[in-house]
Amino acid sequence: MFSKVTLLSLLMGLFLNACKDVNEYRIDPAFDVYVQRFEEEAAKRNQAFHFETDGLIVEFANLKDDQAGLCHFEHPIRIEVDRTYWQKISNTAGADAMKENLIFHEMGHGILGRKHLNDVFENGDWKSMMCGGTKVNNRPWNINYRRQRRIYYIDELFNQSISAPPYTTTQLLQDTTGFVNVMTLSFDSNKKTDTGWNLGDFSTHTMLIDNKRLKCVSKYTTSSALLLTVQNQAVDFRNDFSFEFNIECQSNSASDKYGLTFGINNTTNDTIEYFKIDRQQNMFMGNSGWYGFYTQLRRNELKPSGNNKLKIIRVGASLYYFINNVYAYQTEIELQGSGTNFGFIIPARATIWLDAMKIGLKGNAKLSPQTIDVRNLKFSIKALENSDQLRAN
Ligand SMILES: [Zn+2]
Repeated sequence: MFSKVTLLSLLMGLFLNACKDVNEYRIDPAFDVYVQRFEEEAAKRNQAFHFETDGLIVEFANLKDDQAGLCHFEHPIRIEVDRTYWQKISNTAGADAMKENLIFHEMGHGILGRKHLNDVFENGDWKSMMCGGTKVNNRPWNINYRRQRRIYYIDELFNQSISAPPYTTTQLLQDTTGFVNVMTLSFDSNKKTDTGWNLGDFSTHTMLIDNKRLKCVSKYTTSSALLLTVQNQAVDFRNDFSFEFNIECQSNSASDKYGLTFGINNTTNDTIEYFKIDRQQNMFMGNSGWYGFYTQLRRNELKPSGNNKLKIIRVGASLYYFINNVYAYQTEIELQGSGTNFGFIIPARATIWLDAMKIGLKGNAKLSPQTIDVRNLKFSIKALENSDQLRAN
């Protein structure tokens, strides 16, 4: 026989099981800062949320199907974040932005009632951080969620009727003229002042002059950056500069990425900024310290085979990308500090031909082409991770 007390506690237990706490507030400490931030961003826009009293669950899970996050429409809203993915992005330079993007996206579903929106702007940028679901033209979900775009994406999250920011046009809004070439490698002869890189057959690669172009054959099993150190402080990526070359690639896969790069390469923690293309008319821009490229864009100016001319111009905090002399994209530089390393990216076991590599400085820079000491070019290789694609959410 049950005692009165036992019976009472049994009934209490049944009652609690039947009525789950709809106001449960349980946020794993890893997500706390982003939930707080969401509340603050909402408050700035006169949208008041009080998750601590109204309830919200954000917890780790082991998600399937390459998912980064998942929102369950329960009471309270319950968000799951894939543990492996979270740990992976934690070790990257862009971790904070990427984590915020993921949590805000899931809260966009659960708290703001937003559905996926896969529209794109004229320049190819995603229109919303709510991009997701079924892939569009097989484009990866990588989103350039940084700086001015991050500010826009948060605005858009809370207000879908916001107008397109100026940078989303295909028009070049910045004067990028006035650069004078101070270093040119024409690769027309075997002279060091004309080849920059050391020629020869090395354990890592072969470098030679092939019909007035530099030919590099990689023996690496990963994508690599081959950089020259220009021994002149004026040619420094912290200043405004232009950097260009013609590049052709032969490799096993048309989706292999190759292109232009610059940055610091003195320690393994140093990062490089890159502008890569593939042979399917896609461009990718990013920084090696980040998880994956910023975003993938399709550009008709890209030739699927043969030479493409790639050019980057830095003006102030922004980089401007050009493909075969057509303006392609603008975004902010991620590199900090200074450095004089410039070069190219070659896919694993691929062959690259390079021609007409030029570095230019603003015309008013107190520098003439003769002052660049190309004899002291130093050469180094940096192995790159294969660029990861962002996971679905
Ligand atoms: Zn989603």
